[in-house]
This record gives sequence, C-alpha cells and structure tokens, in this order.
Amino acid sequence: MDKCSFCGREKKDTNLLIAGISGHICDHCIDQAYNIIQEETRSHSDFDVSQIQLLKPLEIKKFLDEYVIGQEQAKKFLSVAVYNHYKRLMQGSRREEDDVEIEKSNIILVGETGTGKTLLARTIAKMLHVPFTIVDATVLTEAGYVGEDIESLLTRLLQAADYDVKAAEKGIIFIDEIDKIARKSDNPSITRDVSGEGVQQGLLKLLEGSVVNVPPQGGRKHPEQKMIPVNTKNILFICGGAFDGIEKKIGQRLNAQVVGYSASKNREAIDRGNLLQYIAPQDLKSFGMIPEIVGRLPVLTFLHPLDRVALRNILTDPRNAIVKQYIKLFNMDNIDLSFAEETLDYIVDKAIEFKLGARGLRSICEAIMIDPMFELPSNGEKKLHVDLNYAKQKLENVDLKVLKAS
Ligand code: ADP
Repeated sequence: MDKCSFCGREKKDTNLLIAGISGHICDHCIDQAYNIIQEETRSHSDFDVSQIQLLKPLEIKKFLDEYVIGQEQAKKFLSVAVYNHYKRLMQGSRREEDDVEIEKSNIILVGETGTGKTLLARTIAKMLHVPFTIVDATVLTEAGYVGEDIESLLTRLLQAADYDVKAAEKGIIFIDEIDKIARKSDNPSITRDVSGEGVQQGLLKLLEGSVVNVPPQGGRKHPEQKMIPVNTKNILFICGGAFDGIEKKIGQRLNAQVVGYSASKNREAIDRGNLLQYIAPQDLKSFGMIPEIVGRLPVLTFLHPLDRVALRNILTDPRNAIVKQYIKLFNMDNIDLSFAEETLDYIVDKAIEFKLGARGLRSICEAIMIDPMFELPSNGEKKLHVDLNYAKQKLENVDLKVLKAS
C-alpha cells in the first residue's frame, strides 16, 4: 500500500500523495516542508531599513498631493509622523549612545467615510515601499468565536511581506473603522458591552510594541501551524474611523470650556459647521476609546467632508483619477475618449444629490460607461465624446439610490 515516506500516512488518509523515485510525500508534509523553507529563508531577510526611500515631510506631502485631493492638515500631520517614524527606525539601526529614544508616532485619522483615509494610508505605503495591509476593526472580536483574533492583523502584514518577518516588522498596518470597537457606554462599570473594550485591550498590546506569536496562515483552521514571533515595536499603525456623532462630544467640550470671562467672544470664533477641526484626544475618550489606546495614537488629525469642488477635482486631477483611467482604457483600443465639462459637473451633482460621496463618482461613471465599454471595442468606432445628453441618457434607467450601497 502507498504511504507517505515522511509521516507514514496511508494514501486514503491524505488529500494528495505524490510519488517520487523511491518514496512518496503527502500534502500535509509538503505543507510543513514549505513552512520550514519559509522560516529558513525568513532569517536571511535582505530587508534593510536604510533602503527605505525617506523623503522629507514636504516631499512626502507633495507625493500625497498627486493622489489625494485636499485634506491639507491630514497630509501635513501624516507626512511629519511618517518622517519621524522612519527617522526613529534609522536611529534604532544606528544605535546612537545618547539615550534619547524617539517614541512611536501612530496615527489616527478621523473623518467621514469616503473622504480619503484609506487612500492616504495606501499612498504613504506606496511611497515607502514597505509592507502594508488594511484591516477592518469590525472583524476583530475578543474571544474570536466568529471574528478574527487580534493577531490576524499581523498575519495579514506577514502575508503582505511575503513572510519576511524583518520587513513586516517595519511595515504599516491601516486599521479601518477603529470607532467600531469603541465602548458603547461612557461608564465602564454599568456596561455589559465588554467586547469593544476587550478588543481595545488586545490592540493596545500591539500598539505598545510587543512580541506576538502570529499564526502564519491566520485563524484557527490550522491548529498545527508553527507560530512566528513578530515584534510590533517598529510597525506603524494608522487608524481611521468616521466616529459618527463625535461632533456632539466636541461641541459639548467646547461649550464647557468657554464659560466665564470672554466666553461669548470665544464662542463666536468657533466654526460650528465643522467641529471636527477642533478634535482633541479627550473627544476620542468620550466616544468610548480607552485612554491607553488614545495615548498610543499620539498623532490625531481629521479629514474634511468633500465639497463640490473637491469632488470635481477628484474626477480629473489625481494621478490615477477616474477619468484618466477611462481614457487610458479606451486608448488601449485606439479609441479617443473625452468628456465634456458639463458631463463632469453633472456627475458631481448626482453624487451630491444622492449623497454618494467620492466612492459614488466611480459608480456613476461606471453606469455611464458600461455600454460604450461593452460595444466600442467591437463596433469599430474610434472616437467617443461623452457630452451631457449622452451621460443623462445612460443614467436615465439607473436607480442611483441603489449605487449608494456599493
Ligand atoms: P475612507 O477610507 O475615508 O472611507 P477612501 O480613502 O477609501 O475613504 O476613499 C474612497 C475612494 O474615494 C478612494 O479610493 C478615492 O478614489 C476616492 N477619494 C476619497 N477621498 C479622496 C480624496 N481626498 N482625493 C482623491 N480621491 C479621494
């Protein structure tokens, strides 16, 4: 009977048994052998922090400007934080003797969904050429019955780094929807909603910097997998969240602050329309983030809601703007595509009317362009000018309310 020459499993107990010249190997042993190889090569990582192309904050911001419209303050804060973070890493590798240790500058971006938080983080990672992963905080749950364990953040980063631990340890993790793990009540003693707080405690460990045993393939589906220790000390965490309703907390705090002498004068100076610009760490605490987490996210900045001008610019200005992408796609079929100014304004109007935000721009364009993308490559036409009528006609039968969900 055929057996695995490594573990002795019989063929019927394996998924796959591969025959060699004088023996067999089963899928299980191949898996294990693969992990051993990975581990061996991992210790010979050629990742070198001094190879990170470190631009100055002003240059980082310029790079961000090419991809992200507006959000000046967030870009500035992010540029400085990233610059300092990598300076800190370089200090670590040079081991200077002056024992001034630069602390890690994890970042938290607060702003409505679809205003560019993920885009900012992604663009930074692109610039630095370091491993980068995006995780959604909502998938994390404390005990992990249904959700993922906190270590899964690191599993993803490891995967993004091709299991090069040294590289992963200098990577960036973007945690989206961080507000979803906020404690639901201000008072920890009366709340039974401990889950949010539990996840926050788990996250704290990672933010603080510790050595975490990471299942290389994540989850509990592979109980036999060998854990990989990953040190999170130099991983940069960028968190993003909409923090719906935090304006109210900011407003309350500002009102409380401006009582007394010259209060009315101060009160007038506050721009009530955009309270997010006054966000401070204590507002995150009032929202339900535990103080320790807030303390570990020292760089706090906000993103503006996107106005008409911003949306219009997003269509055409970023380096890989939606409109540029369509033109390129058509160009590959030698079709000359152009859009009328009024069409672009119309797309923006629709995005605003249906509250679709920046993400909606793409869905609207897609709805307009689906027919020509389907037909033109075959029908021999070499030119398409999308004027207002054409766009209106294409959108006529589309229920834009449905796009909202996408
Ligand atoms: P968030 O993470 O804030 O929810 P994203 O960064 O994922 O939002 O933005 C969704 C999409 O909208 C992006 O992929 C991008 O195409 C577009 N977008 C949003 N904000 C901007 C911006 N400020 N500049 C350029 N594009 C943007």
